[in-house]
Amino acid sequence: QIGALPIPDAPGGGEANVVLFLRDLTEARRLEAMRVDFVANASHELRTPLAALLGFIETLQGPAKEDARAREQFLGIMRTQAQRMTGLIDDLLSLSRIELHEHVAPTRIVDLGRIARQMVEMQAPLARERGVALTVERPDIPLPVLGDRDELLRVVENLVENAVKYGNSGGVVVVSLHRIEGAAGRGAQIELRVRDEGPGIAAEHIPRLTERFYRVDTASSRQQGGTGLGLAIVKHTLNRHRGKLIIESEPGHGTTVRVSLPEHRPDGSETMPAELPP
Ligand code: ADP
Repeated sequence: QIGALPIPDAPGGGEANVVLFLRDLTEARRLEAMRVDFVANASHELRTPLAALLGFIETLQGPAKEDARAREQFLGIMRTQAQRMTGLIDDLLSLSRIELHEHVAPTRIVDLGRIARQMVEMQAPLARERGVALTVERPDIPLPVLGDRDELLRVVENLVENAVKYGNSGGVVVVSLHRIEGAAGRGAQIELRVRDEGPGIAAEHIPRLTERFYRVDTASSRQQGGTGLGLAIVKHTLNRHRGKLIIESEPGHGTTVRVSLPEHRPDGSETMPAELPP
């Protein structure tokens, strides 16, 4: 946007005395388009289960008296749809909460290995149900990072859930932890990897997976109870923790998702701005 303001009382007077202002609207337009897209997607995602719910309510209230088994079946579907809406709203709230304090670095010391182990224990029933062997491997050393425990639990939860959901039933999911020495005076990184033996993800999708509502196969994600927000939540949480997310996948050979966070040093120097990611 280019504009000009005349300065009536400027020395010299005349038409030449103007202040020019230049403003690049490209970024503002891009952000506005993203916001509009987000609202449209969120509304659509909420409308789909709501329409199914209303349809079943109308059927149950309609003149055709369903038998007890059919009613039971309808109520089961209605419950699943209502749960889907609750899950979506929870994810939307988490995302906005994380975005709100994305620029405030966490200050508590937590052990990423303990968080991973705890989440793997919590996910054991889902893995058993899907016939997936879920294991965790960690070195016998402390793996300290500065982090928000609940947010990091959520990161591990999203990655393990994806590996179990999209990995082939009957496969193996391995969560492993590593301490990676930093190069030339840089601090070490604590890395968490979640590896599955699923169908993998084609290369063209990988850069878009952290976009809100982006799904490789929307029908299959919905069927698995996915919202398409999991990896967006992971990305924003990692921004806050100055962490990185790398997704490596080869169709037919499974997926490995890697999350790395700066190791907490006793002198707190991992918080030095020089090490902030670009
Ligand atoms: P969702 O709620 O759909 O699981 P996510 O943001 O967690 O949303 O993931 C986005 C999409 O990435 C998923 O819908 C799925 O298509 C794909 N995806 C994520 N993790 C894996 C994986 N381990 N293997 C194959 N596809 C995956």
